Amino acid sequence: MSFAQGAMPMLQEELIFVGTCDISGHVRGKAFPAAELPARAQKGVGWTHSNLMMSAFGPIFDTPFGTGGDLMIVPDPAAAARVDFADGTPPEHIMLGDLRETDGQAWTCCPRDFLRRGEAALAAAGYSMIAAFEQEFVLSGADAFPGAAYSLAALRRQGRFAEVFVAALRAAGCEPDSFLAEYGDRQFEVTVKPAGPLAAADRGVIVREMARGAAWRLGQRAGFSPMPNPGGAGNGVHVHMSLRDAADAPVMREASAPYGLAAPARAFCAGILAHLPALTAITAPSPVSYLRLTPNRWAPTEMSVAVQDRGAALRVCPIFAAADEEAKAAQCHVEYRVCDAASSPYLALGCLLFAGADGLRRELDLPPPGVPAPTLPRSLAAALDALETSEAAAAWLGPVLREAMLRHKRAEIAHVGETDPASLCARYAEVY
Ligand code: GLU
Ligand code: MG
Repeated sequence: MSFAQGAMPMLQEELIFVGTCDISGHVRGKAFPAAELPARAQKGVGWTHSNLMMSAFGPIFDTPFGTGGDLMIVPDPAAAARVDFADGTPPEHIMLGDLRETDGQAWTCCPRDFLRRGEAALAAAGYSMIAAFEQEFVLSGADAFPGAAYSLAALRRQGRFAEVFVAALRAAGCEPDSFLAEYGDRQFEVTVKPAGPLAAADRGVIVREMARGAAWRLGQRAGFSPMPNPGGAGNGVHVHMSLRDAADAPVMREASAPYGLAAPARAFCAGILAHLPALTAITAPSPVSYLRLTPNRWAPTEMSVAVQDRGAALRVCPIFAAADEEAKAAQCHVEYRVCDAASSPYLALGCLLFAGADGLRRELDLPPPGVPAPTLPRSLAAALDALETSEAAAAWLGPVLREAMLRHKRAEIAHVGETDPASLCARYAEVY
């Protein structure tokens, strides 16, 4: 349905949507009258276990949970955004929430609780983190024209979207950092400032929804499919991460060490490398994700760490115009590039925290720079096989979430079948 601009005022009552970003990467939940927030803050909205198994396309193709059981999605007041676009449409009043059993216990498959468990694993290894999601997407109403990449012309020709979107991000508390016309046709990128892991993942979810909300109000569509068309550029989600110590001081940088990274940062990255085949199933969890992870697209193809190289799975990011060592230490961070918006930010960052914490616990180190690296899994099926055989991932996820993820994603592969790349991209462009 398209929105009629300038509609006459009518009787209306504000709603709050509470939801989570689930295995499919979609944000799903229910709305309630805003006046009932005090009660809903306790009892949430009703949900059921099999809702977690809703596919990217909508239908539940397979579920271990059947038709029984009840859960609650309980809104987190720390994850609320209310954005009035001041165009006569209802405000977007969103709260992200936790999936809980009816007795209030966290459900073992709650995506936000999985992330909290990952944070706890990092804390047990002696560290905390700030993180930010950098996200790419295509805007349906923008012009595609030769020479557009990064150009002022492309920025201008997307019209009002960028300024409406950035204002929405500001109002939602997401602290916008930059917006740019990317390399691909109609492709744009947005970054926001870092925050602690849960807040960063909440921002990652809200950024996507505000892009969709701003685009819809302008009669357009913001699409986050990992690969909108087989010949073009992929839409990546790059996860920027910086470790801090118990005193909340940055600990990433050691200028004279390999990769310019101090031992804890190298151990954290080595943990990610060690578990990368299994992680890929969680962070790049759609069949089209593997059309993105191919050569010459500025997306990673190898399980590597590199300094300032956008082809690496983990990129040690540059330090810009830092006046002194303290400023350099504050900026020093790594970027995980094997991620896209078919993944839930909670599940993606959660598994990175677990993997990095494992590297810290085992005091792993990185291979010397320049050593040839193995390739990433080449298909979702291969990544899921790696996930299934990973004892570490089984411990992080727990048996129920592990089985749910494997069944969810294998059913998705069976559903799309042997579709040719163009049709596959078209199907995913419809749903992300
Ligand atoms: N579009 C690329 C990707 O799929 C990333 C381009 C960039 O370095 O920002 O990850
Ligand atoms: Mg980019």
